[in-house]
Amino acid sequence: MTDTVDDVLPASDAVDRYVTGREFRMLIGGELVTGDRATETVDPSTGAVLTQVPEAGPADVGRAVAAAEAAQPGWHAAGHDGRAAAFGRFAQLLEDHLEELAVLEAIDSGNPVRAMRGDVGISVAYVRGWPGLAQQMGGQVIPASRDGLHYTTSSPYGVVGRITAFNHPLMFAATRPLPALITGNTVVLKPSPQTPLTTLRLAELFAEAFPPGVVNVVTGGAEAGDALVTHPTVKRIAFTGSVPVGLLIQRRAAESGRVKNVSLELGGKNAMVVFPDTDVAAAVEGAVDGMNLTVCQGQSCGSNSRILVHRAVHDEFVAALAERVSRLRVRTAYEETADMGPVVSAAQLARVTGFLDRAVSDGATLVAGGDRPTGVPREGYFVNPAVLSGVQPGMEVAQDEVFGPVVSVLAWDDYDEMVRVANGVEFGLTASVWTSDLDLAHRTAAALDAGYVWVNDSSRHYFGTPFGGTKNSGTGREESVEELWSYVEQKAVHVRLRSSASVLTHRGW
Ligand code: NAD
Repeated sequence: MTDTVDDVLPASDAVDRYVTGREFRMLIGGELVTGDRATETVDPSTGAVLTQVPEAGPADVGRAVAAAEAAQPGWHAAGHDGRAAAFGRFAQLLEDHLEELAVLEAIDSGNPVRAMRGDVGISVAYVRGWPGLAQQMGGQVIPASRDGLHYTTSSPYGVVGRITAFNHPLMFAATRPLPALITGNTVVLKPSPQTPLTTLRLAELFAEAFPPGVVNVVTGGAEAGDALVTHPTVKRIAFTGSVPVGLLIQRRAAESGRVKNVSLELGGKNAMVVFPDTDVAAAVEGAVDGMNLTVCQGQSCGSNSRILVHRAVHDEFVAALAERVSRLRVRTAYEETADMGPVVSAAQLARVTGFLDRAVSDGATLVAGGDRPTGVPREGYFVNPAVLSGVQPGMEVAQDEVFGPVVSVLAWDDYDEMVRVANGVEFGLTASVWTSDLDLAHRTAAALDAGYVWVNDSSRHYFGTPFGGTKNSGTGREESVEELWSYVEQKAVHVRLRSSASVLTHRGW
């Protein structure tokens, strides 16, 4: 059956309601501005142009940095309570606009609307969570000498440049600037040009909740990002995106001639390890959740895209996983029934299908999906979630990040060999271990080279615990007190205390 037609688009009202006729503007110094240049953003469910959005150039970025620099002393002086009050206002605005934001996110990113309500909910929890976490920071008193008092204070960097990826645009825009803000920095935020709409809608909410210049939003691509990275005022840069761009940002930051603190949240090729003693049905559910298929079509840095299954349960696992993913309904993202939407762009779709074709010619077996779903708009970027079995560790699909709905299953027999394969990639972001043996669980969690490990669980982030990667998955940790510390510079103060006798002599006593 071939692809169907426009009469399956009852959700097209959503575009009329939330996009058509609206102006999406950047936020610079408290003003909503259009800038001099514009570009298009596309609905991945239909392939249609949704609207025009501003495309910032270096001059716009310069104005945003200047506004952030001017606002920073006042924002810092507001103190923790003043800043926390703005966070409270922002959380309330997110809650008030939950439905609009979730639908707009589904329209612009292709992520299914039901899950995007969840992303708004998570964002609200993070906005409410950061001020409390920041109160744990304190300072230190260090017994560094017998005759002195040695303590630390900390100060914000000033202006932080925050660059984000396309896959959770709303959640990233709403939450990733927050640890910089609560510690007294001001921010210039640049989202992905592929999915700018919710960030631009949030710009209006930022303008309501925060004083002018504290949060600035510029849209655009590499040119705008580079202008932010190389701007002499921006000493702290936080980046979420791909390894090549992360490496480029480190280089460009150095070439600016200024020493900068760059944190990088990059890609993953994450291993899920299934032991023969596990509940296979639970592991299959964990694999589907861990792939984030029903949240962002598997376009997630943390997805368990490599599943290493012990041979004793391999065939049972593969059959159950193939059956489970083939039940997912791939639809227009803003249809209520969609379990999965389209991938973000035509290029991303070509990337996914290219990986699948090469995997099959490398000798893997496609046991589910990879084809185009029926009943979806003809020009949308849809692909059914794919399961590959018979994948060998050296294959491209076992080494490189697809960033899409492609799960590779690898069979294993020997524990040490399994660990070697699990660690034999350039990435080290997440891992997931499935077993009912507690010793084995802890031993394997320790052996896997990854920054975030789940046991009998997958996908979920636990606010307050440090998230981040080893190897080429990045540097730095987020969502935790560690991240807060990364937005301040410490100062050590040493007070030499005179002996009590000399104090008395000094006083003439
Ligand atoms: P990308 O690297 O193509 O783009 C990310 C951002 O960088 C965008 O805003 C883009 O405009 C900007 N950019 C591009 N060139 C730039 C330059 N020269 N200077 C400054 N900025 C520049 O990534 P993407 O395609 O948006 O996202 C997918 C990647 O992001 C995947 O590799 C994924 O694993 C990763 N990711 C990681 C995390 C994490 O937390 N570790 C989360 C989400 C996504």
